[in-house]
Amino acid sequence: MQTEVSTNTNLVVFNTEGIMRDMRELIPLYAKAGIRHLDLNFCEMLNPGSPLNEEEKSAEYIGKLMNLKEEYGLTFVQSHAPYPARGMVMDERMKSMILKSMHYSEVLGVDHIVIHPEGKSIEGNVELFEELLDRYDGNITIALENMESKEEIYHSSELLEIISHFPGRMGICFDIGHANVTHLDIPKEIEAYGENLIGTHIADNDGNGDQHLLPWMGNIDWKKAMDAFRKYYRGYINYEAMFYSRTKSIREENEVIELAIELHRRLISL
Ligand SMILES: [Zn+2]
Repeated sequence: MQTEVSTNTNLVVFNTEGIMRDMRELIPLYAKAGIRHLDLNFCEMLNPGSPLNEEEKSAEYIGKLMNLKEEYGLTFVQSHAPYPARGMVMDERMKSMILKSMHYSEVLGVDHIVIHPEGKSIEGNVELFEELLDRYDGNITIALENMESKEEIYHSSELLEIISHFPGRMGICFDIGHANVTHLDIPKEIEAYGENLIGTHIADNDGNGDQHLLPWMGNIDWKKAMDAFRKYYRGYINYEAMFYSRTKSIREENEVIELAIELHRRLISL
């Protein structure tokens, strides 16, 4: 297991003022606080007017991310593909956005891209990923994520069956918050994934909803989880904990980042 701090670029994206910023503005905040490992949030493509959906503007945007990577000596350990939020479907528009985010990730040297499964059908997901990989002209690895509801793909047995159709092309991103909401035995899931586990989404909640809080702000047993990660996992302990900052002013964001770093240290030392 890697011990250095890693976070999705959305860690302080929300604030009480409702001021929106994209990765280009957020990355320097983390880098200046000493965070060197980042998970790029291509879910930004779902925001109306995102430059990432336009050819010329996206080239400029990706160029800027490349410059930031070099300037601060960053590694992009993971990225998150856009996904159909509530009320949306996996239509052609969504698939082409996902394919674009795969391409951006590969250009930026991202290790793997996290993509959500769609619905509850194993066969349906095998077909979806066959199509995406067929249409994708590149080699990036896909990490499939366990979902937050039992009406979706959530259990290790389901995810492992889907990825077994794509040896060498797909692994798993374990979302510990989702596992807590679906009342899974977290250490058992981590063990079941074993060497297929290539990424994480780390956030806490009280088991009643996916609250995306920092560790110890919910009821996850972090000692048990970290023991299992240490035993079975080689990648980063990567935050997807963007809702804690929602109750904070933009003026307090450096404190939020410092707290996240401090809690990460505590996790690693458990
Ligand atoms: Zn997640």
